[in-house]
Amino acid sequence: MILTIADSCLQTLSADLAKHLASDRAAEETGWLLLGIRDQTSVHVTDLVPAGENRIGTPNSIQFDAASQVAATKAIRDRDSRVEVLGVAHTHPSGRHRPSSGDLEGDKQWVQNLRSDGLFGIVSDGCVRWYSLGKDDDEYRAINT
Ligand SMILES: [Zn+2]
Repeated sequence: MILTIADSCLQTLSADLAKHLASDRAAEETGWLLLGIRDQTSVHVTDLVPAGENRIGTPNSIQFDAASQVAATKAIRDRDSRVEVLGVAHTHPSGRHRPSSGDLEGDKQWVQNLRSDGLFGIVSDGCVRWYSLGKDDDEYRAINT
């Protein structure tokens, strides 16, 4: 799979991350819903939706604010109906590069709601590492960007 990410998304991610790390919630995980366009061979991330002010974060977990995600996703899809939910990216304040066993447990359920394989980004040590997980997969597959 070829993964491309819009420059605007990388800028948003970087700016959001800097703001998060300077906040009093810096020790908590945070994240973004990933939206974009998919075809047979490639996935292009066009939009990020932040986890939201009402997210519930701990040093080892993040629960997105579902209401704000639904509203933002609808607004983006009203603009371009080809856009679909591709996956999520979240931070690991611990610096761990791979998804955790808790991530896998949650993502195996969540990916069932997607049209195709889910895209998952782990943000740690200033880098994003990308993984995919299919509906029948028991493990993530690393994606090289
Ligand atoms: Zn995680």
